[in-house]
Amino acid sequence: MDPLVRSALWLQQLLVRSSGLALSFALSGYLVYWAVEAPPAGWNIAALAVLAGSLGYRLLKRLSRLSSSATTRLDLELFTHLVVLAYGVILHTPGGLDGPYYPAVYALVMICASFAKPAAAAGTIAFAVLVEAALNFVAWGSRDSERLVPHAALLGVFAFLNMLVFRAEIARIRALSRQRIETELRKMKDAARSYRLLGAPASAGERTTLAGPDAEDRLLRSGVDEIQQAVEFALILLCRTLGLRTALLLGLDATGAELHIQELSSTEDAIASGPFSAKDGIFGASLAKGSLLAIAGPKAGGHVPYYTRKPAIGAVCATPLLDHGNARGLLVVDRESREPFSAEEEETLRSAAHFMLRAIENERVFVQLDRAKVEQGKLYRAANALSAAATEAQVIEACVSGAREFAAFDFAVVTLFDKIGSEHEICAVSGEGAEALVGQRFKHNAGLVSMVVANRHALPYRGDYDPSRQTVFTRRLNPPAMPSLLVLPLLVHERALGTLVLGSNRRGAFGDSVRPTLEVLASHVAVSLANARMLKRLEDLATMDGLTGLFNKRALQEVGVQKIKSAQRFKKPLSLLICDIDHFKRVNDTYGHDMGDLVIKGFADVLKRVKRDTDAVGRFGGEEFVIVCEETDERGAMLLAERIRSELEATQFQSELGPLKVTCSVGASLFPVAGQSWEALFKATDEALYASKRGGRNRVSLWSQKMQTSAA
Ligand code: GH3
Ligand code: MG
Ligand code: MG
Repeated sequence: MDPLVRSALWLQQLLVRSSGLALSFALSGYLVYWAVEAPPAGWNIAALAVLAGSLGYRLLKRLSRLSSSATTRLDLELFTHLVVLAYGVILHTPGGLDGPYYPAVYALVMICASFAKPAAAAGTIAFAVLVEAALNFVAWGSRDSERLVPHAALLGVFAFLNMLVFRAEIARIRALSRQRIETELRKMKDAARSYRLLGAPASAGERTTLAGPDAEDRLLRSGVDEIQQAVEFALILLCRTLGLRTALLLGLDATGAELHIQELSSTEDAIASGPFSAKDGIFGASLAKGSLLAIAGPKAGGHVPYYTRKPAIGAVCATPLLDHGNARGLLVVDRESREPFSAEEEETLRSAAHFMLRAIENERVFVQLDRAKVEQGKLYRAANALSAAATEAQVIEACVSGAREFAAFDFAVVTLFDKIGSEHEICAVSGEGAEALVGQRFKHNAGLVSMVVANRHALPYRGDYDPSRQTVFTRRLNPPAMPSLLVLPLLVHERALGTLVLGSNRRGAFGDSVRPTLEVLASHVAVSLANARMLKRLEDLATMDGLTGLFNKRALQEVGVQKIKSAQRFKKPLSLLICDIDHFKRVNDTYGHDMGDLVIKGFADVLKRVKRDTDAVGRFGGEEFVIVCEETDERGAMLLAERIRSELEATQFQSELGPLKVTCSVGASLFPVAGQSWEALFKATDEALYASKRGGRNRVSLWSQKMQTSAA
């Protein structure tokens, strides 16, 4: 953009941005002028209208941007306008700045300090002090700042104190509500844990990172709610049908020592929050026996610890909730009547306990199913991504991103094992400080990666890693130190192609809940890796000559056709060379076919060495090789051909019968003079080769019109 236009735009933006503040200054200037001599009434009305209009506009704008962050300028404009208005009003009330209405400025500054950004509040105070100073020194020509200094100091103090108190209050309320939410969440999780919807605390953390904390919390909350509703319903029914004072479900904690209130229905308010001992009294006896226990009569009250103000109790009954023989909690009921619980009532209590247990079990199954569904979805997506990956690099990339779905890790590496060389190679990494590992190779050793490949089992046990005792790759080559690390084998038909190494800065990151899924993922990765390798082999087979690793006839023909097309389009030179070993039959006859093969390979090596990167070389069968040279004219083609000839001539092969040397003949031709199509160019080059053979072999010939006539 033109610098002039740019600076004009910048100036325009500056004007627009500073217009509000400029208006505040202009109006305060008008206020000072007013204090010196009364302007005509029309002017005052105009100034007031401008102020009211601008104030209204900015107020609306500020209200519509309540949550936006870019409001400092708007706040500053709004409050400086209000300062002008406040001084305007105060100046025209009895007493002026010393009058009873002056504290309105303090109030304004306090409001500003409470609601505006700190920078806007500071700006507003400075503006107010400036206005007052202008009035003091300019309008009234005062020489001292007798009034100004205390006013300015009080403005600052008011604003500062207010900001401090107000913001501290906001922070306090925020902390309080955060704490409340956390307590609620903890309570819900405790309930979920006691219903065994959730595992032990460590794996709970793990889970949270897996499905996303929100999804997991929602799932748990709905599970807990369902259980609580069902249990509450059962307790209310029991109270009504058995004439109970209180019916409550107590959950046994993980240690089995304490009972916590899960749900309760009572006509009494004075209920203790617990926990209660699971060892003593009727609770302990019922849990130990594993069956219902009831006491009626005067002693019953001694067995009821959950009232803070104990009412008269005539009978109490505790029924354990047994889940596959393990006590999960107690259903406890009491009533005022000393009438013992009848057999029928006891049966009702047993059924109620059973119902509660079933409700908990159902929810547990539901939560597990839901979790499994989420995990399966992820696994499905990862498997899809893996099967779409066609190359080794793509598989490894899909592997790392797939693993990220199941486990939170800070470091990932894929190693591949080369069985023939007994070597491991680090292929891909993800994570900080891990890039230096890519491409590193190391011999099979006693490290974790080597052990996993050898034993085909994930290591270390439970993913607990101790860098001071365990080696991952080699002693010299190790991942960054972290408390959790897991090396998974990439297994196909019981053969380990390599490993997937994951590391985490969190302790216990690869616990029981993630390891099995990661193992399944690793097996998918291994199959995809094997497929990618097979695909690559098939491609190589289809395009490569097995003996020399050069293009085969079909592939070279395709490349040749392409290169001719592009030479034609871009009007670039192109040459074709055909090389044929002289009297090769004799090599085979004298030294054997195997030696012949070695010579062919040796010639291919010569070609690979002397060709340029843009040249395409292929074996056309037997001991005949073709080279397509892009952007190569007659001089370049003849130089290359001569180099090939002389290099082969200088090469000595070792055979059982002693040293062996061979020579070759080369034919060369230029596009488009020798031929416009691949076929025509090839035919011409073959004619040039024939000329070399006829001319005595071990030589180079360039195609010419003459050859065509002589061949014909
Ligand atoms: P010239 O100088 O005229 O080229 O004589 P030459 O003996 O090399 O004749 P020609 O090029 O026709 O001979 C090709 C021989 O190469 C025929 C065959 O025995 C041999 N041959 C073809 N393919 C292979 C191969 O894969 N390995 C080996 N060892 N020999 C091959
Ligand atoms: Mg030959
Ligand atoms: Mg031949």
